[in-house]
Amino acid sequence: MFIILFNLLALAIGLYSIRRKRIIFPTFVLFILYLFYSPVKWVFSAFSMNDLLVDEILVEIQNAVYLEKFKKQTERKVVLLPQCLRSSDCHARCDPLYGFVCTKCGRCDVGEITKEAEIRDFKVFVVPGSSFVKKIFKEYRPTSCIGVACPVELSESMQKTSVIPSQGVYLINDGCFETKVNVSDVVLKMELVSPIPDGESLLKTVTLYDFEEKGGI
Ligand code: SF4
Repeated sequence: MFIILFNLLALAIGLYSIRRKRIIFPTFVLFILYLFYSPVKWVFSAFSMNDLLVDEILVEIQNAVYLEKFKKQTERKVVLLPQCLRSSDCHARCDPLYGFVCTKCGRCDVGEITKEAEIRDFKVFVVPGSSFVKKIFKEYRPTSCIGVACPVELSESMQKTSVIPSQGVYLINDGCFETKVNVSDVVLKMELVSPIPDGESLLKTVTLYDFEEKGGI
């Protein structure tokens, strides 16, 4: 009974936090929702509710919690993109260590994100799978990370990569083939660390998070 109450409370607080951009008790919400992740998702599915809400709460709370640390990292900042973002007509070669090497041919958004990343001193990796993420972390040793994926993968991978501050951005369509992301959402995350002159900055257009419980996790 207490477990159900804790989960309902964590979901309610998480939902309030992301809707109002006012983060409260993030440690409690993350702890409970990760601990009971599978049962909570099952309950959502059983009642025909959108279980992605659980993942979205986890990602948004982590984004907020890691925001200040993420903004302070100035070296070896990386963007990890899923290979499904590539055009079906992509001719990029796959490096056995670092994944696909984008030539910025213009057939998909990966090229656009890569160009924006170069301006802002971020390194982009287009990864064919989680084994590549492990290799990149081992060899390149990033200090911060922007990850692009579907909500389920993001919530799982952000928990695994919590050794460095990260920010997650959702794909806007799913399906593992020619997926899409809002490029400006990714650029906005880069601008948190490497802002461009005031007049052109996307940062002016968004509300960042406010914390009621300081310190995060
Ligand atoms: S922009 Fe890069 S990832 Fe996209 S199709 Fe061209 S080479 Fe491939």
